Amino acid sequence: MDATGHPIRVTVWGENVHEYQSDIVRAIYPHGMHETIASGFRHTLGDRVQVQTATLQQPEHGLTEDVLAATDVLTWWGHKAHQEVDDAIAARVHDRVLSGMGLLVLHSAHYSKIFRLLMGTTCSLRWREADDRELVWTVSPGHPITHGVPHPFTIPRQEMYGEYFDIPQPDELVFISSYSGGEVFRSGCCYRRGSGKVFYFSPGHETYPVYEQPEIQRVLANAVQWAFNADSSGTPLDSVNSPTGWYERQT
Ligand code: ZN
Repeated sequence: MDATGHPIRVTVWGENVHEYQSDIVRAIYPHGMHETIASGFRHTLGDRVQVQTATLQQPEHGLTEDVLAATDVLTWWGHKAHQEVDDAIAARVHDRVLSGMGLLVLHSAHYSKIFRLLMGTTCSLRWREADDRELVWTVSPGHPITHGVPHPFTIPRQEMYGEYFDIPQPDELVFISSYSGGEVFRSGCCYRRGSGKVFYFSPGHETYPVYEQPEIQRVLANAVQWAFNADSSGTPLDSVNSPTGWYERQT
């Protein structure tokens, strides 16, 4: 909720492709992963948020100028169809982040157009799909995204994401994960880009019920509140011409 008591407006974006191609995914997420993620926010944050969903298949991927203008925090899950996201829509989301919209980048969205645009690196990583147990460790105790999150907590079955993860050094590293195979990964990373805050969180593979897990819902709910920018003007920063004496003239 913002300072004036209005709920934080959250748009949950889902690629929504695996759900139509895999019986396993449909059994875990019968209404789509985006609906499970959205209901996690509603359940955890109640009237502090106003949640809507958008998907790849909608006109303009459900991310029209109006939708984005009315979004305080956007969450992004994608995997199979990153290249089907229109460059113009990725650029529009990028502009909104620089203008102050929060962005949560989830799991395989490490390879999304929007995340790679914001990071400027390949965002490549090590991976394995083999039912690893993941432990998520808090490495920034007291950070708002860690409130109420057990240290560590377990995800019983998960895809392994390991180092090296080709991202810029995070402004704040909140979680690292370890796997039964021995790998480690920077699984919770905070960035500021322009006026916007970006949080990457790696747990969330489509064939495991990760988004049903209370600890995951808590992390994402905390991250929405962290990424919300109450002071955002909604416009990107711009350069300011300042002739000699400008400061004295205004006082
Ligand atoms: Zn995955």
